[in-house]
Amino acid sequence: LMNLTRKLIEIRSILVSIDQSDNLSLPSIVVIGSQSSGKSSVLEAIVGHEFLPKGNNMVTRRPIELTLVHTPHSKSEYGEFPSLPSYGKIHDFGAIQKILTDQNLSVPASECVTDEAIDLRIYSPHVPDLTLIDLPGYVQISGMDQPDNLRESISNLCEKYIKPPNVILAVCAADVDLANSPALRASRRVDPRGQRTVGVVTKLDMVTPDEGTAILTNRKYPLQLGYVGVVCKAPKRGIIDKLAGEGNMSGAIMQREENYFQNHSQSFNKPGVLVGTNTLRKKLMEVLERSMSDSLQDVSSAVQNELTEASYQFKVEYNDRRVSPESYVAEVVDGLKAGLRDGQRSFSKPEVRSKLEDLLTDRVMFILEQLYWNDGKLAELNKLNVKGDAQGQQAIEQYWAQKSDTARSLLTKSGIGRDSSTLVAEGLRGLVEVLTTDAPYSYHEEAVSRIREFSQDILRSRLSATSDQVENALKPFKFEVETEDKEWNRGRRHAINALEAEQEACNAKLSEIRRRVGGYRKLNSIINYIQQVDEGAASSRGGSGKGEQPAWKLAYNPAHLVEARQAMLLSERLAMLKLRTSTLRSSKCKYGQGVETVCPEAFLTVVSEKLAYTSSLFLQIELLQSFFDQFPREIDSRLMYDLDRSAIEKFARENPHLDAHLSLQEKKDKLEEVMRRLHVLASAKEEQQPTAKRK
Ligand code: GDP
Repeated sequence: LMNLTRKLIEIRSILVSIDQSDNLSLPSIVVIGSQSSGKSSVLEAIVGHEFLPKGNNMVTRRPIELTLVHTPHSKSEYGEFPSLPSYGKIHDFGAIQKILTDQNLSVPASECVTDEAIDLRIYSPHVPDLTLIDLPGYVQISGMDQPDNLRESISNLCEKYIKPPNVILAVCAADVDLANSPALRASRRVDPRGQRTVGVVTKLDMVTPDEGTAILTNRKYPLQLGYVGVVCKAPKRGIIDKLAGEGNMSGAIMQREENYFQNHSQSFNKPGVLVGTNTLRKKLMEVLERSMSDSLQDVSSAVQNELTEASYQFKVEYNDRRVSPESYVAEVVDGLKAGLRDGQRSFSKPEVRSKLEDLLTDRVMFILEQLYWNDGKLAELNKLNVKGDAQGQQAIEQYWAQKSDTARSLLTKSGIGRDSSTLVAEGLRGLVEVLTTDAPYSYHEEAVSRIREFSQDILRSRLSATSDQVENALKPFKFEVETEDKEWNRGRRHAINALEAEQEACNAKLSEIRRRVGGYRKLNSIINYIQQVDEGAASSRGGSGKGEQPAWKLAYNPAHLVEARQAMLLSERLAMLKLRTSTLRSSKCKYGQGVETVCPEAFLTVVSEKLAYTSSLFLQIELLQSFFDQFPREIDSRLMYDLDRSAIEKFARENPHLDAHLSLQEKKDKLEEVMRRLHVLASAKEEQQPTAKRK
């Protein structure tokens, strides 16, 4: 059974990592003792290095779960903090001491102590396979600057750990009466027959050898596992360093101890008297191995129960489906990419073109309104034309030709490159936002903000180039636009549709106003009133100058008067729209020489459709294609590239469903692993036993 303890210690650490509840735990050795009883010195003597936090008033505030791993074939000695993997293997025990001190101090003084243990493993050819838990020392007299409840907190903490099946290592100083040892008192409470307590009597050099042996063989506080006496005062720092250079510190301490017991061999060399750190080590190994073996049966069945439970739950809740953080991350990323591919469809050339056409239709309406519909000169020129003379005709033609030029120029120079690029970029930004809003993305805030950030980066980097490209492509249209028969007809049709849509919008607004004002008749009467007053104001303007407060202001609700004025404007606009629509429908707007000056609505629509078509081509190449190419690649390189194992795990566990799934799966796996190891141990035992009997 060479490595039994080692194997059980390994099993124990798996169990500890599953959960800290007692019933799944294999025993460990729990070290208790009052402050200054020499507890740290004993532990350091066992390890052979000074590594525990020291200093005035330095109370250990957290338990230290110390796992010693015997490595016979390796010369190097080092420590590891499994929960602080970034430190790696630490060969300098001074550094270990520093980390332990920091970890201790991370517990605020007001909290005194906590049961959150620090996990420390030490690998060395000089240590035995052992697990020890170092607990805060019992306080006899609280210092002035210590919290009142310190004493109580420490003994509560110790109480938790000294429960069975743990082995208690009760440290008492030889120069203090055993009756006053808080460690022995606590152990007797939970282990009255002393079956799982080992007594360590320190500072044997502080009493006479005979007093020493008397303590070690005392009958007053009997322990079945006995007492071991040690002398392990650490030599002064400087000496340790010197010796550490030559070999290891344990050599130096042990030498002192050995010398001491040899010098007093008459007293100590008696049957039943156990002394020396080496003896203590052996004893602890023996006791730990035995108590681990003893609790094997109980732990096995507890693990089996737990495993059955976990397997059942895994089946019911997840139908035995296994997950891994890696596959989850891949799933999330693939989902995003698939969403992107779907989304790309709404950015096809026709889709983008029709969006741009909408944008430009608004612009065309605005230009028409400014340039044509509100122009008083129109009526004037029409009047001129009544005469029908050649000069008048020419003037009109010139006027309209110039207008049409201005309109085209206004439209083509209205910053379409910038606006259309922004429109598409906004669309893409919106797509990314929609794609990353719902679960599972909602669990991954940080990743989502990074995704959005670099999608913005791509867009930003493409935006101005795209805008310039589009603008360049539109340049020819700034000088001249040629139209064809087919284009004209389509433009004319679209212009009619647009004007009719405008009419509908006007009508809707009008009826809304009518409703608010109180009906058709009411609105008409207010309008009549306004007209009368306006005429009155116009005719009286030449007369008295400063008019008195107009009477109408009192006659109607001022808000309704404002609405009525708006209704008047809308009616005018509606009449204009109707007129223009009928012109567009008439034979005057058939495709032919000079028709663009007669039907600017159709002409501008043709121009805007050409612009939309050309813009969408360039937007497709410059912005959309490069976005849809680059974005998935950026997801891989910027989001996935720098994820290591622990980052992937962290990401996956941000999703609470997956976290629960992974945790249960992990628990089940670990329990299975423990069961497997326990079976191996059990069958090894069986093989050994018959041989043992035959002997
Ligand atoms: P802890 O507070 O229980 O961890 O006790 P320490 O291990 O820090 O020891 C308290 C003091 O007792 C220190 O000054 C040690 O040097 C001293 N000490 C520890 N063991 C021995 C020993 O075997 N003999 C003597 N003379 N002093 C010891």
